[in-house]
Amino acid sequence: MIYSYCVETKLWCIKEGELLRLVRCGPLGHERPFLLTNNDDSAIALSSIIDDFSPAFFSSGMLDSLGDIARGKDLPRVSIRSERIGPPITTPQKIICVGLNYREHATEAKMEIPTEPIIFMKAPNTIVGPTDDLIIPRNSLKTDWEVELGVVIGKTAHYLESPDIALNYVAGYVLSNDVSEREFQFERGGQWDKGKSCKSFNPLGPWLVTPDDIPNVQDLNLWLDVDNVRKQSGTTFDMIFSVAYLIWYISQFMVLESGDLINTGTPAGVGHGSTPAEYLSPYQEIRLGITNLGEQRLRTVTSA
Ligand code: ZN
Repeated sequence: MIYSYCVETKLWCIKEGELLRLVRCGPLGHERPFLLTNNDDSAIALSSIIDDFSPAFFSSGMLDSLGDIARGKDLPRVSIRSERIGPPITTPQKIICVGLNYREHATEAKMEIPTEPIIFMKAPNTIVGPTDDLIIPRNSLKTDWEVELGVVIGKTAHYLESPDIALNYVAGYVLSNDVSEREFQFERGGQWDKGKSCKSFNPLGPWLVTPDDIPNVQDLNLWLDVDNVRKQSGTTFDMIFSVAYLIWYISQFMVLESGDLINTGTPAGVGHGSTPAEYLSPYQEIRLGITNLGEQRLRTVTSA
């Protein structure tokens, strides 16, 4: 859905057939919630009616009525051209990642095709905006990229009865980048988490799109370029375990809460899987995107 200004009523109204996109703009830690209109440079400011796109917001059910609320109120439209775009949700309680969920990626990683989803945790404070600096950690030689479909949970999900109902628990979909340090992940002992939780390692956004506007979540294209060279190009059709199956599966082991983020796995083409292996160094540009979920443009920098 999209909002346009009606001169007669002096209200914002929705035009059918366009995306309802939730964005957060402002300095790091002080982002404010907006709805993006058809003109990407301006947006409807929501601060007067909601605090933020937080777990409390998603569990309140206000997301379902956001369109009606925005339609019924004369909310200010503001330019966001000069604003920093933040991640489209506040820091979640948890980030659950799915490993090796695309066959070709499992093959390039020289790992077995999983018969059950592999899941691991990523620190929630890794989330940054879609144009923020990507920090190469101290002592890192193997920082790598992973474009992924991110799923934001809309209400508590625990012991779901079947995958058939699992998509009812989704608040929206978002472009995610599961940045990984392969030495920390594979060569330093223990679990993968060390290589997944470094500062700035989960660029998220630019926006969240509600499930109404994604008719088939298993039919989205994903891509990623490093310095204008295409590295990853895939489709969510090739997932080993579907989004619905993953939500159902994870809910058998833990309580999914509103605002939680699931990174659903990356297609082939990561640096670790290329021959010879290729990793990020400072002052490179990474661009990535997913159908209808926008684009990230990140610059790599050295750690302080
Ligand atoms: Zn991943």
